[in-house]
Amino acid sequence: MARRFPWVLAAVAWSDAPQFTRGVHDGLPLLSYGCAPRHLLATYRQLRAMGKRPNGQDPVAVLYVRHNGSGKTSFASLYLIAKAAPVRPMTPAKFAALAKANLARRICRTCGKDPLYILPTSTRQCWKCFEANENSEIAEAA
Ligand SMILES: [Zn+2]
Repeated sequence: MARRFPWVLAAVAWSDAPQFTRGVHDGLPLLSYGCAPRHLLATYRQLRAMGKRPNGQDPVAVLYVRHNGSGKTSFASLYLIAKAAPVRPMTPAKFAALAKANLARRICRTCGKDPLYILPTSTRQCWKCFEANENSEIAEAA
């Protein structure tokens, strides 16, 4: 049986010398668990935990992880820590924009009221309006 991810010596963005990778995924070097240099590469969430953001850079490698329980393989983009920038701080305008967006998720499109919970995206209606609508449809059908 051929191995799915053979070791390949390839040129990589984080080193001047060719490094061992597990092939290519979406045109990027593929790495397996334990072979990505932790001090040079990080996933988006790892950058975030360090208080950094990718700063517009494209991922330089892809990490794959096999889940033995389900037999599934998941992939994560890896970014250069050296090219990452600090996370932008929250500003009053950002807080206001987020508050507005969260409020918009609670406004019923039929009665225009805020029922104090987030409405389902399928109907964008509060439960009262949804029920009234359902009942009128049943009445029309009868
Ligand atoms: Zn409503």
